[in-house]
Amino acid sequence: MLSMGVRRRWSRQVFEELYRDGAPWDIGRPQPVFLELADSGRVRGSVLDVGCGSGENALLFASRGHETLGIDHVPAAIELARHKARQRALAATFEVGDALMLGDLRARFDNVIDSGLLHVLGGAEKRALEAGLRRVLRPGGGYFLLCFCDREPGDHGPERISEARLRGLFASDWEIVELRQVRSQVTAEKSVHFTPGGPRAWFAEIRRPVAGRPSP
Ligand code: SAH
Repeated sequence: MLSMGVRRRWSRQVFEELYRDGAPWDIGRPQPVFLELADSGRVRGSVLDVGCGSGENALLFASRGHETLGIDHVPAAIELARHKARQRALAATFEVGDALMLGDLRARFDNVIDSGLLHVLGGAEKRALEAGLRRVLRPGGGYFLLCFCDREPGDHGPERISEARLRGLFASDWEIVELRQVRSQVTAEKSVHFTPGGPRAWFAEIRRPVAGRPSP
């Protein structure tokens, strides 16, 4: 038997099962912090949602007129996101794809949003995501992140990420414009596993430099 301290690996199969059984993050509306971001006017231009799940955050930005692509490696989640886009008559595009291979996408984006992807990735995977973000974001583009923070107690669900870990991951050639503690939302049924009011989480705005530095 695995001890409580051993985190299960977040394989695609695990996600497929979670979508079948009712995924804790699949709340049927955007995360409040992304709603606040959309209202703030800080997001301009196109939006890529990495690990978009059933698409609520991507659909929010599409509803505000942003050209939006969502990618996820679970086909059932992408089908659901496309269905919602059709029902709401929104022009968002959703594709089955690997968020760790962003450099393979032909398009480049002004913004990337990440609601709950980074905190399910292992160390090498986090670095692969960061490398892909460098390639897929236009100069000056922003990566907007929501992930569990290490002030959330317990070990149910995803990794709790420390501020030092986040800053370390984006230490070179990124600007951390904002990093603050917020609450993430989970379904009512799964909320018993977390701090009342929602898991403590980080919200970060992390930007690429406007112009690349000349090579040494
Ligand atoms: N952003 C969504 C889903 C968050 S859960 C929301 O806020 O509701 C994390 C999502 O990342 C899951 O949908 C999972 O299928 C997806 N995911 C995990 N690893 C991935 C990978 N390598 N490529 C694409 N999607 C991935």
